Amino acid sequence: MSNRIWLSPPHMSGKEMKYIEKAFETNWIAPQGSNVTKFEKDIEEYLGLHNRYVACLSSGTAAIHLALILSGVDKGDEVICQSFTFSASANPILYQGAKPIFIDSEEETWNMCPLALELAIEDRIKKGKKPKAIIVVHLYGMPAKIGEISNIAEKYQITLIEDAAEALGSKFKGQQCGTYGDFGILSFNGNKIITTSGGGALITNKKEIKDRAVFLATQARDTALHYQHSTIGYNYRMSNVLAGIGCGQMEVLDDHINSRRVNHCFYQQVFANVNGIKIFSETNQDYYSNHWLSCIVIDEQVTGFNRENIRLALERENIESKPLWKPMHMQPVFRNSFYYGGIIAETLFKKGLCLPSGSNLTDPDKQRIKKVLELFIT
Ligand SMILES: *Cc1c(COP(=O)(O)O)cnc(C)c1O
Repeated sequence: MSNRIWLSPPHMSGKEMKYIEKAFETNWIAPQGSNVTKFEKDIEEYLGLHNRYVACLSSGTAAIHLALILSGVDKGDEVICQSFTFSASANPILYQGAKPIFIDSEEETWNMCPLALELAIEDRIKKGKKPKAIIVVHLYGMPAKIGEISNIAEKYQITLIEDAAEALGSKFKGQQCGTYGDFGILSFNGNKIITTSGGGALITNKKEIKDRAVFLATQARDTALHYQHSTIGYNYRMSNVLAGIGCGQMEVLDDHINSRRVNHCFYQQVFANVNGIKIFSETNQDYYSNHWLSCIVIDEQVTGFNRENIRLALERENIESKPLWKPMHMQPVFRNSFYYGGIIAETLFKKGLCLPSGSNLTDPDKQRIKKVLELFIT
């Protein structure tokens, strides 16, 4: 059997070890050190705005949790969240004892529908409670309609949190995803565009808020000689060893984005002129996706086959592909939550498939994938 082709495997550059060795040589293993400082500064510079501050954390999930805490979300509060996403976007709402209000997607970006969002806000206010925060996601690297969504957040004075876990390097109107909201979050999990094996970051626009995030992430120790605490803290800081991997990965981030975009072009060519298969692409020049994963939507009525037929054919050749995310309002664990919208996210889940998209996907890999896909389309 040929080697397995994974959906989105880690891609080391060879530049990581020098930073890790430095951590070992200086014995700055954890919980702070020059790699953490450098990784944060590198991301801040990459984001390209003078007033964005980055706190590196143990995961993207931890970053969302801290964003909610820093937004004042507490027990019984309501938090609006995109339904079409990975569960990590929504779980921290429950950590805070708050209630998620899920929102459908729109068809162009597959992300939060601004119309459904505004209807939901109006309805929640009418029912007596204004939501405390909005979590919008840039899924698969595609920027959401973030201009419209931040206008709505501003109009109703609700904190905006951007889950850019899959969208580092993606831009809307030239501005990086994760820098539009009051908070942005990134993930460096093993499957993301760059990885620290596990890790994440919180982006804010105020130095004091970053400092507060770091304080909470390091057990909330008051300034005192002895251990004294006046708030509940967390153990959420990124280790200096893992930040070393991140420093090495930052050196190749743009190469990774370029490879993923080339993958997307490859699939565009494969499916060019195929009726009933749509490859997920930017709708106009305002959107620049890192194309973290290349995805297709299959209209079985037209093609005569469905996403499961393709997935199983790929699997037989030891090639991994996956259905799109199952929306949160369809998840057993969130079955009692409110939902606003129609069946767009639900339909995407039924018809969609993510194809192998690693930045280390080779030309021979692509030929293997193409051979399977051609069984369906020729
Ligand atoms: C990966 C991911 C997260 C969580 O990040 P972790 O670092 O794995 O905790 C959150 N949201 C989305 C959309 C993700 O894809």
